[in-house]
Amino acid sequence: MRRSPVRPLLVAVCFVVCSGHTSDLQTGPPHVTIPPMPTMESIKPPDGWQATGHIVPPMPVTLLRLPRTNITRAKFPAVDFHVHAGGLNTQEAYETFIKLLDSVGVGAVVNLNGTTGAKLDAVLKAGEPYKDRVATFITFSADGINEPGWPARFAGEMERAFKAGALGMKVAKGLGLGATNPDGTYIQADDPRLDAVWAMAAKYDRPVMIHTSDSIGRFYPIGPKNERFEAGLWHVPGDVRENYYDNGFPSHEVIERARENMHRKHPRTRFVNAHLAMLYYDPEKLAKFLDTHPNADVEISATVQDLGRAPRLWRQFIIKYQDRVLMGSDGSPDRGVDDFWTPHWRYLETYDEYFAHPAQLRTVGGSPGHGRWNISGIGLPDSVLRKVYYENALRHLPSLRDSIMKQLAGR
Ligand SMILES: [Zn+2]
Repeated sequence: MRRSPVRPLLVAVCFVVCSGHTSDLQTGPPHVTIPPMPTMESIKPPDGWQATGHIVPPMPVTLLRLPRTNITRAKFPAVDFHVHAGGLNTQEAYETFIKLLDSVGVGAVVNLNGTTGAKLDAVLKAGEPYKDRVATFITFSADGINEPGWPARFAGEMERAFKAGALGMKVAKGLGLGATNPDGTYIQADDPRLDAVWAMAAKYDRPVMIHTSDSIGRFYPIGPKNERFEAGLWHVPGDVRENYYDNGFPSHEVIERARENMHRKHPRTRFVNAHLAMLYYDPEKLAKFLDTHPNADVEISATVQDLGRAPRLWRQFIIKYQDRVLMGSDGSPDRGVDDFWTPHWRYLETYDEYFAHPAQLRTVGGSPGHGRWNISGIGLPDSVLRKVYYENALRHLPSLRDSIMKQLAGR
């Protein structure tokens, strides 16, 4: 059995849950193993199978009468490290958005959609009076990466953006699953042409918010045994959007390895890995990733649906890695309070059970695209909640500290 720091945690959890099943002959805690990932073959539908076009209906309404904590705002002013607010280039847009943030208790956000060039300049200019609430990041673009001189050119644009007020850089999953070399292979995070990019972030001590890889179900064959299909994706015959199985995309292992290399090659660059580095399918792997790379932090956006179906384990995990985990939502100005923001707070702050996870993605039929199930809360202690909500984010964005402290004092 491989050894890892998260193992005792898993053993402790299972000991509580499974101790009723130990045999009389056994002494000491029961032996706990982690099953391997299912094979591609085991998820694959039979040869000749085709999606029927049947639309998956919304989730059934539960008839359980379970306690519900009355909650609409985050307990402390949260810094939401993962927000897409593309249209923030007027005073009115900022004012409306900040009103929403106030109503849900978000102290500040990172707007990952700063873009580059003149567009970025417009966002920064309109955002100047609101920079105590909205941190704008330059958005990485691999356009032109195969042309000579690209590394210095893009690093130069980063430098310009940082000097103009961008507080970090966002990299989307197109790095690894989108941008290609002239021979058609996919460019990965450890490509030497990116060294100048990661180095520029280190030079200005700005975080790189990086999303690489994707939900694990997207790497598996489409069919009823795939959790994503069960939730309602890919039901239209021929729809293979963002499914990476057997159609020329790299495996998730290739992308994960490249990301490891990137962290190793650039120890002075601070990376905030979006969506728990997409490793929430394997807590042991995520623990090893964090243990290996001190320059890696993670944020939790679009993972709550999975964290919330193993609440005991993830509670212990987040408490153990309380200095490395940031709050993020993947939200935008058009998200609803009840179906999006509140479930985040309910998950992190309460022990409520079996409630709908944040509706980040809806299928055509209205079911939650990230998973056709409900979740339970982890009731984090205040000391950990404060770190996840703002302390860890403020290490990356120290210029927001005054704003968050003022908001804390005003509560
Ligand atoms: Zn996002």
